[in-house]
Amino acid sequence: MPGKLAAGNWKMNGVSASLAQLETLAANHPDPSVEILICPPATLVSKAADAAGPIRIGGQDCHANTSGAHTGDISADMLKDAGATHVILGHSERRTDHGETDQQVHDKVLAAWASGLVAVICIGETLEEREKGVTNQVLGKQLEGSVPDGALAANTVIAYEPVWAIGTGKIPSLDEITQTHSFIRGFLAAHHETAEAHGMRILYGGSVKPDNASEIFALNNVDGALVGGASLKAADFSAIVNALEASATGV
Ligand code: PEP
Repeated sequence: MPGKLAAGNWKMNGVSASLAQLETLAANHPDPSVEILICPPATLVSKAADAAGPIRIGGQDCHANTSGAHTGDISADMLKDAGATHVILGHSERRTDHGETDQQVHDKVLAAWASGLVAVICIGETLEEREKGVTNQVLGKQLEGSVPDGALAANTVIAYEPVWAIGTGKIPSLDEITQTHSFIRGFLAAHHETAEAHGMRILYGGSVKPDNASEIFALNNVDGALVGGASLKAADFSAIVNALEASATGV
């Protein structure tokens, strides 16, 4: 089964000069004991893949079709061809900015798998939903709609990202993260092949920083993190990678 995963989402940040951060990250982790993934903007995927060393490179979205009249979009095959191994799908910013539905995310996941990419499928509740006590219903619906049958530990990663924790500096309590990840694991096990569901990585995402990473990584069913802001600087992301490596070896 795949190991722990530290994933960075650069979002709409980064030009060629930013690849210096990736080179530093690669130099800091020449032989990582966990998987490290950086998802730069599409313009940098190819150059990033050349500079990445042991670090994996991913896209931040792909179209459900392999090619065609879809101006401005990018296919999973194109990402693969540029050197990507993963693609983030259904990030809350795409669900909000582009109105992406669970069905669309589901179809993009199938395209990613068909191209040999690992799909990092994002789910998460809004603050209003958490306060209303409907978090599990919301996540269950997203998981049911976005994760296709046939999901395997090798081709699917789930990223639990409470919308209200992304870029805000706020995180759920450690108990809330534990309960939510346990719910997600149970849901996956009930709807997918059991061994695969237990091997699937469930990442926590939302304001993960060097100073809170260790306590989050110590929680049951937290198999790594999807990190936005703190993935932009090699020093910050390296500290998070180090925390994940320490949690994986029990140091
Ligand atoms: C994200 O964009 O997936 C994310 C978790 O962002 P941040 O770490 O900045 O909250």
